[in-house]
Amino acid sequence: MDSFSINVTYTAQTGVRTRFAPSPTGQMHVGGIRTALYAWLFALQHGGEFILRIEDTDKSREIEGSIGHIMESLKWLGIKWSEGIDVGGAFGPYLQSERLDIYLKYAHKLITDGHAYPDPYTEEEVQAFREAAEAEKRPFLYRDHRPTTMQEWDGKAPLRFKVPEIKRYEWNDLIRGTMSAGEEALDDFILIKSDGFPTYNFAHVVDDYEMKITHIMRGEEFISSTPKFLSLYDALGIQRPEIATMPVILGAEGTKKLGKRDGAKDILDYRSEGYLPEAMRNFLALLGWHPTGDEEKLSTEDLFREFKIERVQKSGAQFDEQKLLHLNREWMRDLSPEEYVERGNLVAHLGLGEDAVPTLLKLVPILKERAHTYQEAWDMLIGELASIFKAPELQKESLLAKEPAEGAGSTKAHLEAVLGLMKSLHEEQDADAVKAVLMPYADGISKENGGRGAALWPLRYALSGAERSPDPFTLISILGKGESISRIQTALGILG
Ligand code: GLU
Repeated sequence: MDSFSINVTYTAQTGVRTRFAPSPTGQMHVGGIRTALYAWLFALQHGGEFILRIEDTDKSREIEGSIGHIMESLKWLGIKWSEGIDVGGAFGPYLQSERLDIYLKYAHKLITDGHAYPDPYTEEEVQAFREAAEAEKRPFLYRDHRPTTMQEWDGKAPLRFKVPEIKRYEWNDLIRGTMSAGEEALDDFILIKSDGFPTYNFAHVVDDYEMKITHIMRGEEFISSTPKFLSLYDALGIQRPEIATMPVILGAEGTKKLGKRDGAKDILDYRSEGYLPEAMRNFLALLGWHPTGDEEKLSTEDLFREFKIERVQKSGAQFDEQKLLHLNREWMRDLSPEEYVERGNLVAHLGLGEDAVPTLLKLVPILKERAHTYQEAWDMLIGELASIFKAPELQKESLLAKEPAEGAGSTKAHLEAVLGLMKSLHEEQDADAVKAVLMPYADGISKENGGRGAALWPLRYALSGAERSPDPFTLISILGKGESISRIQTALGILG
């Protein structure tokens, strides 16, 4: 056969079934979870199933706790699997290490059909083949050393696949179009290792078939192995799923693959830093795909409506942290004050009691204005806004910082005047109303006497005890009339 090509056209009768098939090797990076998101969106758009399978056949790379971590990451982002680990389904088990008998069944079929053989060589023998090939300046290939007589497989020797004699492979990728590779891409690869576990190459082909997967979404690191998979589908006489290869994710400069420095963190680190899952999901969707319109803030409903696998880009997608921050702030701004306090767990985070909620609610507009993440909001609350919850320790020098040299006593006079004006305020008053009462007084202070700052600075400082804080009108509206008056009185006491 000169050319080998399988082109399955997906038909609606089969029902779309996609899967996310991570290995439990520790972290859950942005790239992996983006693949899961696309596979999930695609399945749901077609009324299909999204399956979570765990590929744990490489025991040396396994890290304890990874499966829980994977599930938690998906759950955090609202990517729900309808079948698989934890939830079960008709095609289980969904943990590869529990499917060894299934792989064996397929392995024996391949042996019987003459497509697989036990590798009879010791490491030393293989080394000798390698050296001989090197000396003759030709590549070492297992297929040049196939045993002439077939031995019985004891299940201990590695089982190798006998690749067919072919010239070229061609296949269609839903995102990248026609792909091809020459025969150099193939050698007799291992199906089952000497530890009894199948290789990824073999196990996923069997599982995708057994689990009736219709579409495979995965990263580009698997492109070079695709001819191996194709040759296996052919030898097993089974139909392959459609393949969609995701674009690689590039770092901020847009040249190199995303590395730790550019934010290739574990997905749950974003949760601890106070990103909202809806923002993260929105951002991940845009990593390699763009809607037809300009609007980038997209809800899950928008994504269901607009996502098109054919519109996923072939070229690398740049990880733009600024865009993530921007989107997260936008999503945080959409929350009602009550949701904002609740979702950021503000009360518990600050070690406060429920009685702090009314004050926190009043602070939400300030937080929404500046914080891109809850981490930034938490930092503001324990930093410049901390004195809202606890009366500050005031320093006399700071109270007098704006007093003109020749105006001794003027700060005290201004604070007393403000105190007088405040009597007309209600206990709860918004910042504009406070400003309307107090600003005319500050505006009336002449330039020689220090201008409006001569009153507003000590007032703001008396209320906040901080160099940087919201303006005094906002502070009074948040603290309430009683607490504000008490803080101004403390300041007056210090001034003597
Ligand atoms: N277990 C593979 C990985 O974690 C999955 C590849 C695939 O989706 O087929 O990289």
